[in-house]
Amino acid sequence: MSVATTASAGRIAWGELLGGAAQTVRSGERVLGPLLDVLIRWSLAQMFFVSAVLKLADWDRALDLARYEYPVTWLDPVTAACLGVGVEFAGGILVAAGLGARVAALALAALSLVIQFEYQALDAHLFWVALLGWIAVRGAGPFSLDRMLAPGLAQSALPFARFTTKVLERFTKVAVPIHQLLLRSWIGLAVGCVAAGELGSSAVLPMSSAAPIAAPFAIVLVAALVIGLGTRVAAALLAAGVLTTAVASEMTTGTAAGWFAAFALLAVHGPGPIAVDAMLLRWLTRRFPQVEGKPAFALDGLPHVVIVGAGFGGIACATRLARTPVRITLIDRQNYHLFQPLLYQVATAALSPGDIAIPIRSVFREQFNARVIFGEVSGVDTQQREVVVGDQRVAYDYLVLATGAAHSYFGRDEWAPFAPGLKRVEDATEVRRRILTAFERAEAAEDEATRDEHLTFLVVGGGPTGVELAGAIAELARFGMTGEFRRIDPARARVVLVQAGPRILPTFPEVLSARTNAALAKLGVEVLTDSRVERIDATGVMVSGRCIASRTVLWAAGVVASPAARWLGAKQDAAGRLEVGADLLVPGFDNVFALGDTALSKGSHGGPVPGLAPAAKQGGAYVASVIRARVLGKRAPQPFRYRHLGSLATIGRKAAVADFGFVRLSGAAAWWLWGAIHVGFLVGVRNRVSVLFDWFWSYLTFTGATRLITGGEAAKGYR
Ligand SMILES: Cc1cc2nc3c(=O)[nH]c(=O)nc-3n(C[C@H](O)[C@H](O)[C@H](O)COP(=O)(O)OP(=O)(O)OC[C@H]3O[C@@H](n4cnc5c(N)ncnc54)[C@H](O)[C@@H]3O)c2cc1C
Repeated sequence: MSVATTASAGRIAWGELLGGAAQTVRSGERVLGPLLDVLIRWSLAQMFFVSAVLKLADWDRALDLARYEYPVTWLDPVTAACLGVGVEFAGGILVAAGLGARVAALALAALSLVIQFEYQALDAHLFWVALLGWIAVRGAGPFSLDRMLAPGLAQSALPFARFTTKVLERFTKVAVPIHQLLLRSWIGLAVGCVAAGELGSSAVLPMSSAAPIAAPFAIVLVAALVIGLGTRVAAALLAAGVLTTAVASEMTTGTAAGWFAAFALLAVHGPGPIAVDAMLLRWLTRRFPQVEGKPAFALDGLPHVVIVGAGFGGIACATRLARTPVRITLIDRQNYHLFQPLLYQVATAALSPGDIAIPIRSVFREQFNARVIFGEVSGVDTQQREVVVGDQRVAYDYLVLATGAAHSYFGRDEWAPFAPGLKRVEDATEVRRRILTAFERAEAAEDEATRDEHLTFLVVGGGPTGVELAGAIAELARFGMTGEFRRIDPARARVVLVQAGPRILPTFPEVLSARTNAALAKLGVEVLTDSRVERIDATGVMVSGRCIASRTVLWAAGVVASPAARWLGAKQDAAGRLEVGADLLVPGFDNVFALGDTALSKGSHGGPVPGLAPAAKQGGAYVASVIRARVLGKRAPQPFRYRHLGSLATIGRKAAVADFGFVRLSGAAAWWLWGAIHVGFLVGVRNRVSVLFDWFWSYLTFTGATRLITGGEAAKGYR
């Protein structure tokens, strides 16, 4: 199934390199562009707004200024003062909010021009005009009310709404490149004049402050900027140069900010289409379609890679194949990718489900060779090389099974209704419902015994998930609801963690298990080790012959792999994991791979690769490299080697443990590290920002972000 000759393989490699670079630039613009837009808008807005407020606070002085300091020849002083203050005040507010920002920016730009020509010619005023002009032609950017309201307005019944939206779109298309060209030319002219010795002040060029930028090296950069060659790099270097010069106090703050913003605009948004860079890009795109994120080949006839499961492994495999000449179909029964390590925080009301899940389609929005199917796979026809999804069949050339695992009750499935586990969003919201309902029921209970039963939370399983759950429930009870109940003190809740083995966190070094025990004890969690769960029912749990009455029992004890092994009729271990070879191929098949939690592969130490997110990701990347090598006719990569990056578990606020083999951490340092790593591993910028915000909020206020009892009738299913 090799589709490329060695020559075309070289071309693909180049295309890939350029495609990767172009993608990085696009991502940079997508992330930094909106931030820069906001920064420019807010700094301009606050300047005008403060000026208006000062004048309003001392109106006599404002009139004096209009009369004697900067009289406008064609307006009487009172009108000039009212108009000026009105434009500054309303314009400042509107530009800051991004509401009617184009018009507001235009008015402020006009005011700046009046100030420049009628009162005092300053370089800073010219930068205001240039930056306000950018807002006027391009709009306020994504973080603005204009952008929020635009879709609704365009569809509204307001007269000319649709027409105006269309006209604005066309205007932006034409005006933005002109603004970018003018900005570059204007900078070039100013620096050129200074370099040519015409140092001085001009009403239309920022000449006096251009002097520090007219050093020989900077002139080369400015020349590159003017013709639009390597614009982003040149502009970024010039922006850095401006910062250095400003620190050395050779520029006033206002003009330094003006130069910096002008260069930053060009560095982030690029030179526009009238530039050498744009011509080069067009030429490169014709030769290497990857530059625009497209595959190097038409998709028709390319080998078809079907990936089942968009968890950590499936997503890693699909994204690694972005620039390989294959068609990818990614099938998942959920329409979102879930970050399971933070599920327990949804279950304990610290985060919302939307914070830790991202629509799979949005992950692959820009990956042209990937298609997403929302559906549940029920089998594989290995003879026909087809995957069965509902009543549909999807043919494959390569099949990647990355369907993960589910929780296992070790043959006691009758416990499931009384002790839900955590695997899906639905599980987490159900656990959250049970925990929060328990407090409500305890508040309503008439007798002490019933109250105690409701206020007893029992977690089965002392691995990382059990520890995290128990710690989070204890924190919620102790600090999250203070003063909200009248008849109970939620802090009195009893949290019990039951572990069958001799210590909790058995995969961690003993010293960290002991520290975890101590941290849990400090939170008031009772840890029962060497304790076997013998029965779970509506009244509670029988643990090693002792009955613990509890209405909320949670399961964090065992997992079983997805039924992928059964679909293939292949060998599996006791936990249902598909046995795979060193190349993650399922024995007996030369085109079926399995990875992540659903596969049993050997680690470098001979033992099984653990069921962890990094292991699934590494497996996905490895399978992509095997498929890629085959498709391009290259040598197969070395056998899969799992690299253990370390183990982490959090216990509560500023308490966690981390084991990296060579270094072991506990307490606040491990907790900060745990937070940084989890935010870093989350998929999607929005999720990272919202998780950071929620954590920051609950860190300061001690309250959970999402203490909602959902899932139908509050008491439904609650025992
Ligand atoms: C509560 C919890 C906490 C965890 N904490 C950590 C942690 O702190 N650190 C860590 O490294 N790991 C942690 N893990 C383990 C980690 O999440 C898994 O190892 C990892 O998700 C495995 O990735 P995967 O790609 O194999 O499977 P998953 O990520 O589980 O993805 C499997 C995908 O396959 C889909 N799927 C399944 N069956 C079908 C089907 N028949 N048809 C279509 N689609 C299907 C599922 O919808 C899912 O999207 C935790 C797991 C849980 C449950």
